[in-house]
Order: sequence, then C-alpha cells, then structure tokens
Amino acid sequence: MELKHLPRRRQGRLGAAAVLLAVVSLAGPEPWAQEEDPVAAADRRILTEVAEHSEQMENLRYLTDTIGARLTGTEAMKRANEWTAERFRAYGLANVHLESWTIAHSWKRGTVRAGVVAPTQFTLAAEAAEAAGWSPNTPGTVRGPLVYVKVEKVEDLEAYRGKLRGAIVITAKPRPRQRVEERPLHPRAPRPRRNFAALRKLRQERDAFFKKEGVAGVLRDSDKSFGLFNMSTAGRNYQPASLPTAFLSPESYDLLWRLQEKEEDVEVELTIEGCEFSQGPVEVYNTVAEIPGSEKPDEVVILGAHLDSWDLGTGATDNGTGSSVVLEAARVLQKLDLKPKRTIRFILFSGEEQGLHGSRAYVKAHEDEMEKISAVLVHDAGTGRVDTIALQGNAQVYDVVTKALAPLRRMIGLETLTLRSVRGSDHASFNRAGVPGFFCGQERASYRQTHHSQADTFDKVIREDLLNGAQVMAVFAYNIAQLDKMLPRRPSTGSE
Ligand SMILES: [Zn+2]
Repeated sequence: MELKHLPRRRQGRLGAAAVLLAVVSLAGPEPWAQEEDPVAAADRRILTEVAEHSEQMENLRYLTDTIGARLTGTEAMKRANEWTAERFRAYGLANVHLESWTIAHSWKRGTVRAGVVAPTQFTLAAEAAEAAGWSPNTPGTVRGPLVYVKVEKVEDLEAYRGKLRGAIVITAKPRPRQRVEERPLHPRAPRPRRNFAALRKLRQERDAFFKKEGVAGVLRDSDKSFGLFNMSTAGRNYQPASLPTAFLSPESYDLLWRLQEKEEDVEVELTIEGCEFSQGPVEVYNTVAEIPGSEKPDEVVILGAHLDSWDLGTGATDNGTGSSVVLEAARVLQKLDLKPKRTIRFILFSGEEQGLHGSRAYVKAHEDEMEKISAVLVHDAGTGRVDTIALQGNAQVYDVVTKALAPLRRMIGLETLTLRSVRGSDHASFNRAGVPGFFCGQERASYRQTHHSQADTFDKVIREDLLNGAQVMAVFAYNIAQLDKMLPRRPSTGSE
C-alpha cells in the first residue's frame, strides 16, 4: 500500500486499515477476523484497491489538460462525454451510453475591453474583464454613464424609470474581499438566509426593466480576490442574455465602485466582441454507465458528478475532481467483482453550471424510474477530502445511512453525517423528484477561489484527498446497494 504520499493524519487512518487488512488476510483463522461482516470486508478491499491502484490523477490530467475546458454545448464537452464513456467501457461497465438532451443555443466566448472615460481616462487591463456566459456582443463600443442601481424589491425599480438610457449599470455593492481563505483577515459575515425563488424573480424583473429602459450594458462583480473571476451565465435556459454583460475582476469592480461613490458623472466604455451563439438548438449529453444488480437489478443507487465546466480555467476542481472520483469508484467496484444486489449507476452530467439542467433532463427522461432509485450521492465541492455526507434534510434515512457507513467511520475517519442542505448541485434535481439525494461535504481546499475562475487548473488537485473521495463514493454505493430495503422516502406532503 503506497502510504508514503499521504500526510500523517491520513496515514494514521488508512494505515490502521492497512494493518488490520494485513492481519485479516494473513491470520485468517483468528475468530474475530472470520466474524467480520461481509460488507465491511468488501469495504476494506475497496479502500485498498483505490489506495494501491488509483487511476484518478492520470484521468483527471487528461480530462483537464488534454481535453480542457468543457462548456456545455462545445466540441470539447462532447469529447469529454465520449472519452468518459470509453473509460467506463475499458473498465468493463455495462450499459455504457450517452443520453442526449437539448439546449436552445450553445455559446462561444469572445473578448472584452472596458475602460473609464470620465472624470479620468484609462483602459482596464486586458485580463480585468470577461463576458458573462451567454452574453451577446455590444454593438461596437458602447459608452455611457456608470450607474449603481440598488434594487432590493421590485418597487425600487420605479426610481430609475427614464434615467437609464445608454447607461452602463452595476447592481451590487462589493462585499469585503477575502484575503486568505483559511484565516480571513476580515472575517465575512454569513449571508442572511435568502429566498432564492423570490431573488430569481426579482432579477428577472430587473433585467426586463433594464432592457426596456435602454441600458447599454451590465458590469458584474466577481466577488473573489486577487484578480479571480467567478463566472456564471447571464442568459436563462441557454437563451442569449437580454443585455451585454461582463464580469470585472474584483480589483476593477472595486475601483469603479469607489469612483461612482465619490465622483460625479463617471463614464465608462465597454466592448464585447466575438461572442457567438449557435443558430439553433444543440444536442448535449450525459455519460451513463452501470454495474447491474445481481438480485434487484431494477433498484438503483446512483453516483454522480458534473462533467461540464466553465471555460476560463480547465474545470479541474469544478468538477473534474468529482468526475474522476465517479470514474474511479466505477473502476474499483467493477474490478473487485463484488456483485452488488442492486444496480449501481454512474452518471456524469452536463449543463450543471448553467442551472443543473443535465440532471433535471435526466430526472425528467426517467420519471417512471424515480421510485426505484434508492439514493443519489454527488461529489462536487472540489479537491478536498470528504468529511461528511450532507443528507439534505432527509431525516428519515439518518439512522440507516449512519449504520451502513459505519465502516467508513472506523476505517478512514468519515465524520458524523449531517442533515444539512447544500444547494446548487445535481443531487437537488433528484431531491425535487422525491429521491433521497445527498452531497459530499468536503474540506474547502481553496475551492472558493478556484471554482469558476481562470485558476481552476490541474495543479490545484490534491491526490490523497481525491483518493479519499473515490473511497467514500464507492463504499457508499456498495453498502447502500447491499441493504435489505431501499432507503425510506420523505413522507409525501401531498402537494408536490
Ligand atoms: Zn460544480
């Protein structure tokens, strides 16, 4: 077992498992060894196989460096779908295929120039601005007053009626910048709990108002630090955004913020060019593979991650890591030939970054099968070690999952499970359909800096933590697939 690369804390955990494994295999006649529960014995084999023969680093290197960024709707994303299907086939998985769904338009990134023209004149650095996803181009260069539009509720828009023609607007006061993630110099106050549906509606109304009022462009804050972007889409459901929209680097956004706060009549200019939309709808894909169940093949446990990424970096921590974890879990479970009772299905989704669209499309296409899906576990918080599993408020499963994962706590120190809900990844699409969907709670490992940014590259990946992710996912899938019954569902509220 190659433990020399692991930090000491982890050596302690994995090392103990290795010693015990050695004892179990060498000293078979020991009565306690013979008594070990067959599921726990299989778990030990899974942990050892990952520790000794992981293919994750090379898979992830290929995915990020050779295939590169994987924006949904691009050729690179399709290549990633095909390549992951090839890997699943090479590992001997069954029913390997791509499942298609459709987006209204694919989008190709162009370039942005932005600058201040009054009260002083300068051009922002070439790396200071990037088009938001699905932004249209500006008609040439647009120039106009910089206006901060403060909208907390729909009624606030009224104050701006008739005042925004030709303006370039900003809509957010920058939050204090995080300087160092682990020990912040300026601790950030937690954001107040927000009603996301209401917020989405407010943004839609605001954007429609801007369009009607003749706003020329929108500048958005990246809400990170040290020049890092936090890319997202400005267009809903793969439609072109209603206005040309660009993200500014945190430093540039702060500068414009200070100018408009202190000076009268600040004017800026913005050029977005070279962004392209597909003429019509584009077919995109999820990669799917499985190990058929030996006793209850129609009942399914799903391991998932999204294969798509933003396009400034190469999608290493968001979410090449999760994709490589799912591939590795598939490799190991297949190689060990454990014959799980239920089917274990592996899904690499697309369209996550623009709003969980690939998993929603999957759930919709498989509506009839949802009641036979016992659980879904998603890995999508970067390279960090999996500390816990967030059960998303599925209190009815707490005891049974805790018991099923007891070997992980003993063998590699998985912490107590949590009922906490984490938003914003593909497990949520399943939860919405009544399927117990869970999320891997991970150590931060700079995820908040790297994700969606130009710094999301292979060099950020921590090998031993990635291996830990595959160990947790593979054991989870196997142990849940071996339970006597499917996991219990939330009691129906009757209204959904
Ligand atoms: Zn992600």
